[in-house]
Amino acid sequence: MNENNNGGNGVGLGIQHRKSPFAEYFKEVIYGGIDGIVTTFAVVSGFSGAALSSDTTTQLTFIVVLLFGLANLFADAVSMGLGNFLSVRSEKDQYAILRAKERSLIQMNPASEKEETIALMRTKGFSETDAKTLADIYSTNEDYWLDFMMANEYEMSDPRGDNPVLTGLTTFGAFIAFGAIPILPFIFLQDMTSVQMFQVSTIGTILALMLLGMMKWKIVGTGFARSIGEVVLVGATASIIAFMVGTFFRF
Ligand SMILES: [Zn+2]
Repeated sequence: MNENNNGGNGVGLGIQHRKSPFAEYFKEVIYGGIDGIVTTFAVVSGFSGAALSSDTTTQLTFIVVLLFGLANLFADAVSMGLGNFLSVRSEKDQYAILRAKERSLIQMNPASEKEETIALMRTKGFSETDAKTLADIYSTNEDYWLDFMMANEYEMSDPRGDNPVLTGLTTFGAFIAFGAIPILPFIFLQDMTSVQMFQVSTIGTILALMLLGMMKWKIVGTGFARSIGEVVLVGATASIIAFMVGTFFRF
């Protein structure tokens, strides 16, 4: 398969701004990171809620936080990474199948595909004459014509430059890296009280979420306040719920 069409699919009118692969992976880092940190902080909050509402907080509590936190972290990271790997792969498969089908349509019945192209061009605002001219030109270049059909008839973005393995690994790595943050105090600051550990965990989580929110603002391009506000709000909501649920379970 021809993989070197990353930049070259500014297909006709349906120009799809192909983001750089770098930005694409950064997006995985952001979403995987948010998911990871929210997941483990919810676990930490749940157990802290349980521990803080009980009179006898023992060392056992921290071991439980650690075990559940780590188990959750790895299980979710694997499932997220694998899920992303599978979704990119199936997207590529689906694209390849549709493209092959469209190619055989073009070869078997170019006249009707030309009519389709003219109709698509007309919906984009071209005059009948210009639409015909463009369809004539496109029909001289099968691959380019197929790119146009995929983008405009099927409205699919071109996933051929995507790498399912790298995408899956990026998600997994970001999930682990950011997801570890809320449980770090429970590993390295064990001489602190449970309240202090939870406070350090909370501050670290908020800072990391703000960092992810800023990355989202820079790379995904959502507004500054909205990016940071949303990320922190999602994290806070999940954690408050987990904390409250945790207070119902006393050790
Ligand atoms: Zn078609």
